[in-house]
Amino acid sequence: MNGAAVYHRATDSFCYAADGDTLHLRLRTAAGDVERVEVFAGDPHDWARAVVPAVAGTEAASWAWRNEALGARKVGTDGLSDFWQAEWRPPYRRARYFFRLHAVDGTVWDYGEKGLIPASSNPPPGQPSGDYWNAFVFPYINAVDVFRAPDWVAGTVWYQIFPERFANGDPSNDPAGAKPWSRGPVRNEERYGGDLRGVIRHLDRIAGLGFNGLYLTPIFAAPSAHKYDTTDYLRVDPAFGTEDELRELSDACRTRGIRLMLDAVFNHSGPEFGPWKDVLEKGEASRYRDWFHIKEFPLFPEGKDTGDSRRANFETFAFTTRMPKLNTANPGLKAYLLDAAERYVRDFGISGWRLDVANEIDHQFWREFRARVKAADPEAYIVGEIWHDAMPWLRGEQYDAVMNYPYGTAISDFLLGRPWARSGEQLGQRLAAIDFSYPEPVLRASFNPLDSHDTDRIVTRFGSPELARVALTLLFALPGAPCIYYGTEYALEGGQDPDNRRCLPVDPSADELGFQEFTRALVGLRREAWRLFAHGERKPASLATRPGFAGFRVEGEGRVMLALAQRDGEAVAAAEWRAAFGLEPSARVADPLGVLGADGGLPGRTAAILELLP
Ligand code: CA
Repeated sequence: MNGAAVYHRATDSFCYAADGDTLHLRLRTAAGDVERVEVFAGDPHDWARAVVPAVAGTEAASWAWRNEALGARKVGTDGLSDFWQAEWRPPYRRARYFFRLHAVDGTVWDYGEKGLIPASSNPPPGQPSGDYWNAFVFPYINAVDVFRAPDWVAGTVWYQIFPERFANGDPSNDPAGAKPWSRGPVRNEERYGGDLRGVIRHLDRIAGLGFNGLYLTPIFAAPSAHKYDTTDYLRVDPAFGTEDELRELSDACRTRGIRLMLDAVFNHSGPEFGPWKDVLEKGEASRYRDWFHIKEFPLFPEGKDTGDSRRANFETFAFTTRMPKLNTANPGLKAYLLDAAERYVRDFGISGWRLDVANEIDHQFWREFRARVKAADPEAYIVGEIWHDAMPWLRGEQYDAVMNYPYGTAISDFLLGRPWARSGEQLGQRLAAIDFSYPEPVLRASFNPLDSHDTDRIVTRFGSPELARVALTLLFALPGAPCIYYGTEYALEGGQDPDNRRCLPVDPSADELGFQEFTRALVGLRREAWRLFAHGERKPASLATRPGFAGFRVEGEGRVMLALAQRDGEAVAAAEWRAAFGLEPSARVADPLGVLGADGGLPGRTAAILELLP
């Protein structure tokens, strides 16, 4: 057995209280190395008197730690490692436990804090069912420490809007030099006059497509089109509308059952933020100097602003001097930002905050942010913009979720045939690794985009609307709340920033409207079956002869659904994909998206979500 591959730690995705009562205990071993895993778990204080041989040749009463043996299931593999999980409900909310590994080479090991110990030498005398001092410890399930995201999130399908390019509902507030609404490429410095009124006018269409979450990129006063360079955190950008219109939008969303989420840019301000202008003007004498990360004065040692912060005396977002980094540990600044965060939840009724550059802000700020926002609305949703593994922010006291790009990236890599993701088997392994990196409740609450204002659009990424449909279909069958970026319902194209911020077509073609009908069907299916995708157990399916085929079976809530995709051009015959899932020839399936051919085969470059009929 490869002992170096064996890993557990009594925290994070390896040990957590899934529902406030039940511990999930997880173990990693080398792929194919272990055929069976048991967990021995007990209360740390539960001892019984036992008669055991204490000294050779004599017998004496001793105390034995009481525990019970649990089976662990193999829940996945990423090809290198196998992932195991056991569930245990500690009767007194306290737990000690160790793993017993039955390796394929015939050896048996106990694994705990002391490491790997041959099971034959364990337990020591006096402890007939395992070495107490080799056990991992989860001391107590304190309810307030348990990760809990709002329940509504797992059933939400988000629609993301970049307001400047979504719809111009009020020409009277257009910024100077606004260009006529148009199709095709745009530039960042251009303005087209999109605004909140435009969003309000589209709400019936958005609700009609089935979306029940609306995420707007920043709407507060800022000089750029993207508004990630805030001038005033307490004022709606005048080119987007008024506070009254924001209230109207929030109310109109609520009336339609849509949750509204806004974008908080607290890592840095813009160049025209009042306190920053004060620092630029007064230098060391400014009362706001500690609101920023200033190394020393003067701010620009060369006597001028080159635009590059590597040649300046203050810290910034990336290296742009137009975005000075905020010192979120400063009490005065913190009070200002937290007041703003609370205000829009309490006074405007928004349902969530998406947090820009969230990973570069201190954890202590986020703990206080959560306390303030949840005090205003315990059901508010907090989503950090973190693209990478984000466990340190998802322990229950900071965010409810992050922008979970890794699912979308795994799907994209597979559809693009990247060297590490050429086959459906590899896609299944990558998804399993992501699953294992987070507690289940975290995955259920995650915010899952395929694209956004920060990436290329999926139609352009894959070079075809067909593969964009495939990507969306797979994403919608995974846990977490999927998000569609505005315009994708019309198969809108666009490369990287600024091309991903094109104007929403106002005269959609028949093809574009066809894609919108697909979107409506997919969102409807997801809304209807969300409990299954959130809570079901997922098992991958693949075909050695068809690397472009990928699928997974999801079972739970009394039903079974199959998600299946064929990246490549040739069809996958019914007998082939049925074999991949191990279906009986007589098994009947429903095809709510209407994807399968008349012969039951899966056409090339399509994806389906099927339901197994009883
Ligand atoms: Ca306008």
